[in-house]
Amino acid sequence: MRPKSEELEQRIGQLRARLRRAGVKMTPQRLEIFREVARSVEHPDAETVCRRVRNRLPMVSLDTVYRTLWLLLDLGLINTLDPPRQRLRFDGNTSSHHHFVCVKCGMARDFWGKEFDKPEIPDAVKNLGSVERVRVQVTGVCLRCSAKADRKNRALRKGNET
Ligand SMILES: [Zn+2]
Ligand SMILES: [Zn+2]
Repeated sequence: MRPKSEELEQRIGQLRARLRRAGVKMTPQRLEIFREVARSVEHPDAETVCRRVRNRLPMVSLDTVYRTLWLLLDLGLINTLDPPRQRLRFDGNTSSHHHFVCVKCGMARDFWGKEFDKPEIPDAVKNLGSVERVRVQVTGVCLRCSAKADRKNRALRKGNET
């Protein structure tokens, strides 16, 4: 469902507040790029966002769109379907399985779980079409990245103590 205009205004308010907190200037480009993603239901890629924003701001470059999308992602204002900053990934495993993807390093690994193979499909999905396959993507922080973050935190704490 397309967000209602009040919802969109509210999200733009969040954008303003978040940019201010991060010390980043609000520009017409940033506003339009965010608005385009926030109101779309299609999970558009950067090229699509760029094309649409150009209807209102003809001079905007694809490079600006990419940089703005990464900024919005870093500020937690938007998400990606795939791990951040990764291109389309290929999977040689065509049997039924699921994925764990690390949001920090992009590590993607298969896992298996009968519960996920045949989950109860919500009616919301049935209203969209028929189901052929279910593949679950679990995102999180991998063990290596969390160990790295732990070490960094410990080092920081030590630094504060002395
Ligand atoms: Zn990781
Ligand atoms: Zn896989």
